Amino acid sequence: MSTIAHKLQAVESTIQAACADAKRPREAVQLLAVSKTFGADAVLDALDAGQSSFGENYLQEALDKIALVAAARPQARVEWHFIGPIQSNKTRPLAAQFDWVHTVERLKIAQRLSEQRPPELPPLNVCLQVNISGEASKSGVAPADLPELARQVAALPRIKLRGLMAIPEPETDVSKQRAAFAQVRALFDQLNQDGYQLDTLSMGMSGDMAAAIAEGATIVRIGSAIFGERTYA
Ligand SMILES: *Cc1c(COP(=O)(O)O)cnc(C)c1O
Repeated sequence: MSTIAHKLQAVESTIQAACADAKRPREAVQLLAVSKTFGADAVLDALDAGQSSFGENYLQEALDKIALVAAARPQARVEWHFIGPIQSNKTRPLAAQFDWVHTVERLKIAQRLSEQRPPELPPLNVCLQVNISGEASKSGVAPADLPELARQVAALPRIKLRGLMAIPEPETDVSKQRAAFAQVRALFDQLNQDGYQLDTLSMGMSGDMAAAIAEGATIVRIGSAIFGERTYA
């Protein structure tokens, strides 16, 4: 078995244990393998080990990889999720090549994605990224501005608003990890009380996936625990 297949198995065990602890079914949590900085070979390794959804942060790198993977495994059903910062002049390939975009934080981006989603594809799945750390430098919509953004994005025709995404400050203390995820969960619950039918909470990474699952994550975005440490060029 490849190293990646081994690591995928270890992540799977962690997810299963966290689901059992939280009394949630395993199927309630989707594992998104975050392949940024790793090549198409790593994705193919994971794909051959049964992993089918992948998250990418950098558009050009992702587009190259999507093409290589499609050429190498033309029959495979691969789901691509964009989880990086979005530049407003680069939304067209996002709308055409991805199944999900997790990092929408402005109406203008959502409008462009909706306009540019090709008509032959189903509506683009979108999460709104929320900033619960409250720092001006961080990405994500402020909780106070979330209801208005959700209202506007939900009205766009070629987008399906699925839920919320967050990247809390890195924290080693599990109770602090949980407290941050609980804030995201509370915003999610409030929107659903307001009449939305959101089903997705994208939260939890290699260092905090168990805490995220305990607080209701439905997608965990796992990179280094599957592919190893990243080195940036
Ligand atoms: C890189 C990245 C991840 C994966 O992080 P790991 O700590 O390697 O699991 C998850 N989400 C986002 C938004 C990322 O940029």
